[in-house]
Amino acid sequence: TLRVGVLALQGDVREHTAALQACGVDAPAVRTEEDLAGVDGLVLPGGESTVIDRLARLEGLSGPLRERIAHGLPVYGSCAGMILLADRLLDGHREQQTFGGIDMTVRRNAFGRQVDSFETELRLSFLPDGAAPVTAVFIRAPWVEQVAPEVELLARVPASSVERDLGTREAAGRIVAVRQGNLLATSFHPEITGDRRVHEHFVEMVRDAAR
Ligand code: GLN
Repeated sequence: TLRVGVLALQGDVREHTAALQACGVDAPAVRTEEDLAGVDGLVLPGGESTVIDRLARLEGLSGPLRERIAHGLPVYGSCAGMILLADRLLDGHREQQTFGGIDMTVRRNAFGRQVDSFETELRLSFLPDGAAPVTAVFIRAPWVEQVAPEVELLARVPASSVERDLGTREAAGRIVAVRQGNLLATSFHPEITGDRRVHEHFVEMVRDAAR
């Protein structure tokens, strides 16, 4: 069985663990370098990126994780996890660091200046044509402000949902899901909706990488 760990320092670890188990993989908690060595893929949960960064550095996990990312470990980050996968950060806390790996600039708490939380229907480009959209839940979420050409754009906030759910134009068209190589990131939290399609997609990425 594939082992897709969940970084378990802070955040909604339980929800990701349940989502991964529902996809039929082992989902061990990753807290130490030893735990990390035993997984085929890793999820960085939603939560507070500054806290996860600080605890990972205290645990001596940041260096080994950067190393494994550089060697192709599949990693999926949701919300705070997206922030942690960004090579560059805007509105980060001072001294905040990221693991990096995706050549993008992410703005932390980007939607938060307008609305703390909202949900909307999103089309994800990796789902088959005609598939139902996902319900994307955003909670003090980041957005992707700039990407290198290597980064694949998977979803943007649709303008229609901005008028309906957000009442602001600044959010329209913002990039909220990306992939670069074995790294996947979403601004939103599929782990709390019961829709497993994003986790299933990531498990497929892990399966391909393990072959
Ligand atoms: N605003 C949080 C951060 O900066 C992310 C919020 C979330 O993960 N729901 O890490």
